[in-house]
Amino acid sequence: MEPVEALERIAFLLERQGAVTYRVQAFRTAAAVIGELSGEEVRRRALNGSLARVKGLGPKTSGVVEEALAGRVPGYLARLTAEAGGPLVDGERGQRLRRALRGDCHLHSNWSDGGSPVEAMARAARDLGHRWCVLTDHSPRLTIAHGLTADRLREQLTLVAAVNEQLAPFRLLTGIECDILDDGRLDQEPELLAELDMVVASVHSKLRMDAAAMTRRLVAAVGNPLVDVLGHCTGRQLTGTLRPPSQFDAGLVFAACAAYDTAVEINCRPDRLDPPRPLLRQALDAGTLFAIDSDAHAPGQLDWQIYGCARAEECGVPADRIINTWTARQVTAWTGTGSTPGR
Ligand SMILES: [Zn+2]
Ligand SMILES: [Zn+2]
Repeated sequence: MEPVEALERIAFLLERQGAVTYRVQAFRTAAAVIGELSGEEVRRRALNGSLARVKGLGPKTSGVVEEALAGRVPGYLARLTAEAGGPLVDGERGQRLRRALRGDCHLHSNWSDGGSPVEAMARAARDLGHRWCVLTDHSPRLTIAHGLTADRLREQLTLVAAVNEQLAPFRLLTGIECDILDDGRLDQEPELLAELDMVVASVHSKLRMDAAAMTRRLVAAVGNPLVDVLGHCTGRQLTGTLRPPSQFDAGLVFAACAAYDTAVEINCRPDRLDPPRPLLRQALDAGTLFAIDSDAHAPGQLDWQIYGCARAEECGVPADRIINTWTARQVTAWTGTGSTPGR
């Protein structure tokens, strides 16, 4: 195993396990630093014991490099694999749907509040077997998450084009997780939103507004032709700072999603698992499409899609109503035209 591979695998497993960013950052930084050095210099420093003095490396990460160079599986990686490398859910739960997925419509890079560069997120998605994924960093008003101004988003589109050249035939689609403002309008220039392959719209503020106002807000958003996916519709938070689900008339909102061909997201983050099962079943009965999305903020979190697959399977969501089972071409035709190909 190459040193960089060992360091990246450790970071991936920590992220998949839900580790906070600072625990993972040392391994991501070390992988980047080692990747920049020549193989010869890494070996020379490993031999004379000076690896740990390289900026960005420490005793633990240089130990991992030395063990990998010696042809051993690093002890830390072996322990982590035993402890956290197994399946995230029991048995076959969700596996059938997971195998049917070709992509992920919601993930963040370090351009907003994610922990890794765009390329790293795309490569990790590809290595998990995906054919495509959508980069959906936050919109301007979410300053706490470094939401992208229109100019920065335009700049990001250039980067996405370059990543696509590197990773073809894998496709990184352009996108945004756009804030739904209090009145249901979107937090980005419409002309720019129209250029993107996919728009996920989510509520991140005033989650406790009264049900009638929240219903109007969500219906306005999902009825906007620029919106493709309604992100984590209740906003509930299951761990850390707990937050109850927002109150709204789910019958009206899901009917609007079905009428305007906006997919309902099944958010896979263990701290969200949104919508709750009763609402998921209600959306199913209303005839909506679905997007099973990791909402990953780090490469290892891309593996969390299995949680949403398990819940979708439990609720009887058929694969052909899940947009992640489509090809990139089908997805972009659908978001571009508002009609679903082959259905
Ligand atoms: Zn969000
Ligand atoms: Zn998100």
